[in-house]
Amino acid sequence: MADKIRVTIWNEYLHELEDDTVEAIYPNGIHQTIAEGIGRHGNFEVTTATLNEPEHGLSEQVLQATDVLIWWGHKAHAQVSEEVVDRAQQQILSGMGLVVLHSGHFSKLFKRILGTNCSLKWREADEKERLWNLEPSHPIMEGIPDYFELEQEEMYGERFDIPTPDKLLMISWFQGGEVFRSACTWQQGHGKVFYFRPGHETYPTYHNDYVVRIIANACKWSRRRVDLPNQEALQVEAIEPVPNPGKEHIV
Ligand code: ZN
Repeated sequence: MADKIRVTIWNEYLHELEDDTVEAIYPNGIHQTIAEGIGRHGNFEVTTATLNEPEHGLSEQVLQATDVLIWWGHKAHAQVSEEVVDRAQQQILSGMGLVVLHSGHFSKLFKRILGTNCSLKWREADEKERLWNLEPSHPIMEGIPDYFELEQEEMYGERFDIPTPDKLLMISWFQGGEVFRSACTWQQGHGKVFYFRPGHETYPTYHNDYVVRIIANACKWSRRRVDLPNQEALQVEAIEPVPNPGKEHIV
């Protein structure tokens, strides 16, 4: 595996081009702000990819050379091709890491990899979010205090329809009263998967240093450590003597 962690940041990149408020916060796109942010917290070789590039910027060669895929999408989940989703899923099962952000909870790839509907409650009301650190010894929580706050965010509330996470690292509390499992990990095949809740496009969330530190930590944690594509059921010879080594499998 390469020394530098090779991170591909995928961003739908539509809101920034269509909405003045979002453009003012992310003039070069959410993907560029995340790239700069994680660069302050690690040694990454960052590539970016967006929806309107050929193959959404996620060709077989790009994904094969990716240790961690970060995903931000919102309004155009349906436009992401099944072929690219199939390809990314196979890379994850082979060992590529996946970091899904905010409204990426409804992306085809996240729903595919978790196998549930990933639905939730939401409200856009400029309210405060307080994120509580439940696992300060986990590598993704390195450098994160007991809690931190985002002055304005979109609310996501339970029930979040996900499989029970392998580790629940943070819970968010919102000013309006709801709570949400906002930092979760899973292992699928050989791939490590992380979901992180904050990041609504009309707020400067990816300029927050704790937020980008968590994303950087998640890239280190989920980086590809193996590349083991395996879709075959292999018939193999016995290591030790067995009673009937030539027996044919009857289909
Ligand atoms: Zn949002």
